[in-house]
Amino acid sequence: MDLLFLGAAREVTGSAFLLTAGGQHVLIDCGMEQGYDTYENQRLPVKPSQVDCVVLTHAHIDHSGMIPALVKQGFSGPIYATRATIELCSIMLLDSAHIQENEAEWRNRKSKRAGRAEYVPLYTQQDALDAVALMREASYTELIDILPGFRLMMTDAGHLLGSASTTLEVTDMGVTRRVVFSGDIGNLDQPMLNDPTYLTSADIVVMESTYGDRDHGERPDYVGDLVDTLQTTFDRGGNVVIPSFAVGRTQEVLYVLRDIKQRGLVRGHDGFPVYMDSPLAIRATNVFTQSDAALFDEEMNALLDAGINPITFDDLNISLTVDESKAINVEKRPCVIISASGMAEAGRIRHHLKHNLWRPESTILFVGYQSVGTLGRVILDGAQEVKLFGETIQVRAQIRALKALSGHADRAGLKAWADSFTPRPRKFFIVHGEESSALSFAQLLESEGHAVEVPYSGDRWDLINDYQLQQGPRTLAGEAAKAAEAEADLDTGRLMPRKERRAPTPAVENADRMLDNALNRLRGLIHQGHGWSNGIKKQLARQINKLCDKWE
Ligand SMILES: [Zn+2]
Repeated sequence: MDLLFLGAAREVTGSAFLLTAGGQHVLIDCGMEQGYDTYENQRLPVKPSQVDCVVLTHAHIDHSGMIPALVKQGFSGPIYATRATIELCSIMLLDSAHIQENEAEWRNRKSKRAGRAEYVPLYTQQDALDAVALMREASYTELIDILPGFRLMMTDAGHLLGSASTTLEVTDMGVTRRVVFSGDIGNLDQPMLNDPTYLTSADIVVMESTYGDRDHGERPDYVGDLVDTLQTTFDRGGNVVIPSFAVGRTQEVLYVLRDIKQRGLVRGHDGFPVYMDSPLAIRATNVFTQSDAALFDEEMNALLDAGINPITFDDLNISLTVDESKAINVEKRPCVIISASGMAEAGRIRHHLKHNLWRPESTILFVGYQSVGTLGRVILDGAQEVKLFGETIQVRAQIRALKALSGHADRAGLKAWADSFTPRPRKFFIVHGEESSALSFAQLLESEGHAVEVPYSGDRWDLINDYQLQQGPRTLAGEAAKAAEAEADLDTGRLMPRKERRAPTPAVENADRMLDNALNRLRGLIHQGHGWSNGIKKQLARQINKLCDKWE
């Protein structure tokens, strides 16, 4: 019986762990790497067709995003997940496939011009549909046999609708080990969701550490801040435009808006209209409203019992079609417009920004993290003007950021979760955190006498006799990327795709990050400049080439 760490080892994204016993292989999560990369993820040591089943903790792409690629490469076993995770995956994996296809199309336009080979998308919408077809429901707290010698139980992790910690009871050579994968552990008192379940029994715990070195501090006044934004903006006669992530955050905003309306907290604007303009968000909201009451917290259940739909209200208008979306622009009353994408990089939100950014009476309200290089970040950083659809748009609207609640437990929350096991587990493996965060949290547990490891990708542990079977190569992502560039490979069938590089030591990290940021800024600039004339584009290209010539 052994456990191989593939992804989210000394980094946050790309969760993937392979548990092997009695010649059977169970993959726990199969996530996509996103954003910065530290260590190169090792590939699966077996063919995808040899994996017997997948257990999925939740629908977020950094846990589920590579499942369609696995299916494309031959995996055909069952994928166990909760009902809500399956529903959300059927939306999110399809959307992810759509993005992959778009990227391939864009690359191929360039490749064709350069005479390069065709770029094949990582996976297609059909692959995503095939993946969802393999998903099987595993309910919370129900112990089910998934393979000879493997029993599975999901428990509510309180992080996203349907999110789970998974307990695998594995029997091999007459020895049984209870292996718990925390998944992402939720924050306390999030709107709608239950608090994370504290598990009490485990031999081995594989645990996330996203905020393993930080406390969230004082709780933000979510309702008060939003009321203030609505009141001042509406009093000026403007709209509140909210770029929002379609799944999770949008439903949270709807929940708070419903509360604000019900309590009449915004004065003088009774019945102000709210537009939800994102087909993806509309579908995700339907999953929330159709889910079982047991997935929600007491407050939400009290509303449901009283016959109140907690995330919808009379003045909520949904815009599925493009015509419905355009109709929002003729709305005369001050209104709220919630639209995707969350970082304003693509989608319908860009139209609403075009119609509202120049109006001093309107407010653009950000409710989630904005990555460097995105339009959202450019606006948040105080740009005076931006380009949208080839037009220069003055930024005169108020720009605000609402401090929302984090979906992850902080250091104290993680510690409480880890402390709930009695007796103590034989070992904690700390994963799913930046290296410094994972190490800091490991130190905290160690200081209290727990046995703790912080594995690298490629590390393999014997779970019966408790020793390390194999050491991962600890390849830095930058080195691997350089080697891959030398091959100039365009192969897209890799289970774990290559990402941006990042050096690990602090001194180099700062310089590298500066360079990355500068590069992202340039990318963002070019991205926004789609309406530039050919003359301007050529001028910029000449300047960039000149710079490259100088540094080569
Ligand atoms: Zn997550």
